[in-house]
Amino acid sequence: MVRVRYAPSPTGAPHVGNIRTALFNWLFARHHGGSFIVRIEDTDQERLVPGALEAILEGLRWLGLDWDEGPEVGGPYGPYIQSERQGLYRQEAERLVAQGHAYRCYCSPQTLAQMREEQARRQEPPRYDRRCRELSAGERARREAAGERWVVRFQTPLAGQTPFDDLIRGQVVFDNATLDDFVLLKSDGYPTYHLANVVDDHAMRISHVMRADEWLASTPRHVLLYAALGWEPPQFAHLPMILGPDRAKLSKRHGATSILEYRDKGYLPEAMTNFMALLGWSLDDKTELLDREELTRHFSLERIGKTGAIFNLEKLDWMNGVYIRKLPPAELAQRLLPFLERPEQEGGLPEAVARPLDRAYLGRIVPLIQERLKTLAEAPALVDFFFLNLPYEPSLLLGKRLSPEAARAGLERAQVVLKGLVAFEAEALEGVLRPLAETLGLKAGDFFGLLRVAVTGRAVAPPLFQTMAALGRARCRERLEAAIKKLGPA
Ligand code: GLU
Repeated sequence: MVRVRYAPSPTGAPHVGNIRTALFNWLFARHHGGSFIVRIEDTDQERLVPGALEAILEGLRWLGLDWDEGPEVGGPYGPYIQSERQGLYRQEAERLVAQGHAYRCYCSPQTLAQMREEQARRQEPPRYDRRCRELSAGERARREAAGERWVVRFQTPLAGQTPFDDLIRGQVVFDNATLDDFVLLKSDGYPTYHLANVVDDHAMRISHVMRADEWLASTPRHVLLYAALGWEPPQFAHLPMILGPDRAKLSKRHGATSILEYRDKGYLPEAMTNFMALLGWSLDDKTELLDREELTRHFSLERIGKTGAIFNLEKLDWMNGVYIRKLPPAELAQRLLPFLERPEQEGGLPEAVARPLDRAYLGRIVPLIQERLKTLAEAPALVDFFFLNLPYEPSLLLGKRLSPEAARAGLERAQVVLKGLVAFEAEALEGVLRPLAETLGLKAGDFFGLLRVAVTGRAVAPPLFQTMAALGRARCRERLEAAIKKLGPA
C-alpha cells in the first residue's frame, strides 16, 4: 500500500523546486493507486511566515495536486499540522530518554556558543561535545531542582556505520562518528524536524519518503531514530538537485520563485506540471510533451536520475506555448479573462476598457492570437487595439513608400468598397481589398500595411482580414475615417 507525503514547512511561498517534490509524490501515489498526504511541518516557530500555508495549498490546488489526507480534508491519522501534535512528540522523546536512547542536556545557549568558540580556536568542526551525556542521576536532579532548562538529545552511537538503501541513490553509508548528538526536543517543548518527521512518518504509515537531495544528510539520523524507537523505517528516495542553466544550485535569479508567481505570469498548470515532471524524471530521454494522464501512467522511480536536473525557463516558455495552442479557443478565452480583466497596473487591459469584457467579441479575437501567445499574461498587449482606438503618428500610415495623397486615396476607396460588402468576413474582405490594391496601383504589401495601421493603430498585428472581420464593420469604418482625418486635408 503506497502512502506518500509532501511535508512542507510554512516558511514562505513554495518555490517551484519545492513543488516538484509534491508533484513527484503525487504522481507516484496516483500511479500506484496509493494515498497522497499533505503534512505541515511548522514546529520551527521562529521561521513561520504568515500566509505561507495558504500559498502552499493554493499552489497545490492550482496544479490540481489533490491530497487524500491533510489540512482541510482531514483523514484517519490527523491532525496533519505538526503544531497540533505536540503531545505525541514529547511522549516519544520521553520514551527514548527512559530507554536510554536519549538524554536531557542542560547546556544553555551561552554555554553552546562558548563551546563553538573554543572549537573554532582549536580549528575543530563545531559540534556538541556531549558533556551532558554521562551526567549522574544526582547531578541531573540537582540541576533540574535549580530550574535549569533542558533539551532532549539523541544518544548517537559513537562508532560504527549507519547504512540505508535509497531507491534512487542505491546504498548510502554514513559513519556514526560524523553524526552528533542532535536535538530531538527543544527547550520550548517543540520537537525538532528530525523527531517530528520520524514520529509522523511512522504514525501516518508512510511507505516511501520522497524528498529533495538536501535531506539526504538527515536520513542516517532518522534511520537511527527508527531503530531506537523500535519501528520499521519507510523506503527512502532522494530526488536529484535542480540546477540553473549555469549548473549552479537553482536560485531566485534562475526563476526559483513562488509557484503562484508562475500562475500570475500566465503559465498554464498543465504546462507547469509537464515541465516540473521532467526536472529529474524522464520517460525515454527524448519525449518532452506528456500530459497529466501520461505522466501518471508512466511515472516510476526507476526513471528518476541521480544527477542534477537543469531548470530552463526557455523550455518552459516553449512548452507553455504548445499547451496554449492545444486549448480549444473557447477554453483559452475563459483562461485569458482574468489576465485581461485584472487592473492595468497588474498587467491587465488599460483602465479605459470597460469590464466585464464582451465575451462574444473576445471569442472572435482569441483564435487570432492563439498562435502567438507564450503566456496568458502577454494577451493584453496583443489585443488592446480590439478594445481601444490606439493613438499613433500619421506617418505610421505611410509606411516606407506611400505618399499622403496615395494613402488618403487608398483609405477613401476602401471605405467605399467596404460599404458595399454584404458579409463582413475575412474571405470577402480579401476578395475586394486585394484587387483594390491593383486598381490603385499600389503594392499589396503597402496597401495592406496602410489598412493595418488604420484599423489597429499598429504596424504589427494579427492577419489583416481576420482582424478586420473580428473588429467588425462599425469599428473599421470609424477607424478608417479617423485615419483619413489624421492624414489632413487633400
Ligand atoms: N519540512 C521539510 C521541508 O520543508 C520536509 C523534508 C522531508 O520531506 O522530510 O522540506
